[in-house]
Order: sequence, then structure tokens, then C-alpha cells
Amino acid sequence: MPFWSVLHAPVLCPSCGREISYRAGETTFFWGRSSRHYWGLDDDIEWLRDQQGVIVPPYTLYRRRGWFGLRDPECNLGSPEYPDLLAFDPEIDCQPPETRICPGCQSRYDHIAVEIRGGRVAGMKVFAEGEIARTIGSFDPFPETMLIRPDASDEPLPIWGDQVLGEYRP
Ligand SMILES: [Zn+2]
Repeated sequence: MPFWSVLHAPVLCPSCGREISYRAGETTFFWGRSSRHYWGLDDDIEWLRDQQGVIVPPYTLYRRRGWFGLRDPECNLGSPEYPDLLAFDPEIDCQPPETRICPGCQSRYDHIAVEIRGGRVAGMKVFAEGEIARTIGSFDPFPETMLIRPDASDEPLPIWGDQVLGEYRP
């Protein structure tokens, strides 16, 4: 299984509410690799745990022993320490910018994120073209995950970008 996850849910235009035909309602987000690959709205996050039931820390590879030796490494990219997050869809860069347009109102969008609130898949957020640069800032490289601050500002804070994966040693 790959290191990203897939959320099955309609992607709705923030301006007119019409469904955007984006990747047939399959939004990818970086969320690690465990037994769970497909997610739906309102699902509780299930964490990868080691054999003692301890949640594996983010960005560390856990190699479980199977019948035929070590299995493919698994990992958490999120952490229960951060229950409110925006996890961005990295695949959007594969869509040419001129195709990122709502078929209803012709609004352009440039980012899509899975919103995780309270450790639950709360929904999906579509960002209008330039909205993140205007309201949060410009990033290079663009972070995979942003923490939603618990204070009233509600202004996300980048927390994870390109990180090196370590080995889990319980
Ligand atoms: Zn629209």
C-alpha cells in the first residue's frame, strides 16, 4: 500500500456548492501506511500501533514481523498530538491549472485539503485560487500538512513538509 490515503467524498465548490469533478471524488492525502487506506467522512482516525498497542510516532517506519519475515514498513504521518489538521492533496499539482475550474460558476481553485478535526475526518476544503497565499502565506515547498491553531485566529500553521522517515525502535 502507498504512503498516502484516499478520502471518498464529493468535492464541493466553496463558491456555488456544485460538485467539482475532481478525480472522481477520490482525494488523496498524506496519512501514512497502515491497514487503513480508504477513508470516509466522519471516520475516526485509527492509528498504526506496535504489538504492545503503542501508537507509532509520526515519520517513523515500523517493520512488523510476518510469517515470511519482515513485512513492508508502515508508518503514521499524523499524530494524535495534533487533532486538528488540514492534510493537502499532493495530486493537485498533476492537474493542469486551467482544469482546476468549477463547472458551475467557473471559479478557479488551487488546493484541496482533507480537514481533520478532533481526530476525525470532518470534511474537505477547496481553496480558491490564491486564497492560501492571501490568507495564510506563500510556501515553497508547499507543506503536506498544516495544523489548525486552536485559538480564534484559525489560521493554519505548516507543521509537516518533506521529512525524512526514521526507523521505529520500541
Ligand atoms: Zn462553483
